[in-house]
Amino acid sequence: MQPLSALTPAIARALTGLFTDIDGTLTHQGKLPAHAYAALWRLQEAGLKVVPITGRPAGWCDLIARQWPVDGVIGENGALAFYEDAGRLVRLYHPAVAKDDVRARLTQVRDEVLREIPGARVAKDQFARMFDLAIDFAEEAPDLGLAVAEKIRQCFVRHGAIAKVSHIHVNGWFGDYDKLAMTALFVRTRWQLELGQVRERFVFCGDSPNDEPMFAYFPHACGVANVQAFGATLHHPPTYVAAGEGASGFVEIANRILTLRGAKPVTLER
Ligand SMILES: [Mg+2]
Repeated sequence: MQPLSALTPAIARALTGLFTDIDGTLTHQGKLPAHAYAALWRLQEAGLKVVPITGRPAGWCDLIARQWPVDGVIGENGALAFYEDAGRLVRLYHPAVAKDDVRARLTQVRDEVLREIPGARVAKDQFARMFDLAIDFAEEAPDLGLAVAEKIRQCFVRHGAIAKVSHIHVNGWFGDYDKLAMTALFVRTRWQLELGQVRERFVFCGDSPNDEPMFAYFPHACGVANVQAFGATLHHPPTYVAAGEGASGFVEIANRILTLRGAKPVTLER
C-alpha cells in the first residue's frame, strides 16, 4: 500500500466518481462526523459522481438515496441499488438475489449461530433488511473479535451461503452477487457505462475484508488506516492507504482528490 501522495494529479483530474464503503470508512466510532459528510458534498459539487456501497440494509439505503448528497447507493453487500431519477426513487435489484425460501434458510443459519457461538447476536438493523442476515459481533458490546467473526462466517458457509466480515457484522446471503457485481450493473443501468472500461476513472474507499473484491478490481482503491488491522487476512490490499482512521482517513482521501482538481478541500476539524 502506498501513501495518498502517490495518487497523482493526472489520476485525480481524470476521475468520474468515487465509490465508498460507509461503516469504518466514513464513520468514526459509529458516527458520521460533519467533516466526512461535508466531504461527500464537496466531492459532488466538484462534479464527481458519489456512490456509497455498504452492507447496511435496504431501509437505510432508502434514506441515503433520498437525503444524502449522493448519486445512488448500493446496499446489502450488492443485493440492491437505490437512486433518484427525476425526483423518483428507482430500486434496482441484482438478478441473483434469492427470492423464495431465503428467509427460512437464513433462519436456519441464524439459529445455529446463536446456538453455537456464545455472545453472537442478530444485528439490530436486521428488521430493515430484504435479502441478507447480519450477525453483530462488534457494533454493540461485547466486541467478540475477528476470530469469532470468522467462526460465524464459517457457519454461513457450511449452509451454502456467501458471507463477508465487516468490522462490526458478519453478513450472509444466498445468491451469487457481491458489491462489485452490483456496481457493474448499477453503472450500466444508471449511466450506460461498462465498468471494465472505466474502472480507472473511479476511486473506491474501504476499510475491511468485505471490501476486498473492490480493492482487487479498482486500480485506484484507497484504504483508511484501520484497514491495516486486518493484516495478512487481507489478500487484496488497496493501492493507497490514508494516514488517518475512518472518517479522518476518508476526508484525507477526499481532500487529496479535491485539491488536485482545484476544488476547495474540507477542514479536518470535526
Ligand atoms: Mg466498512
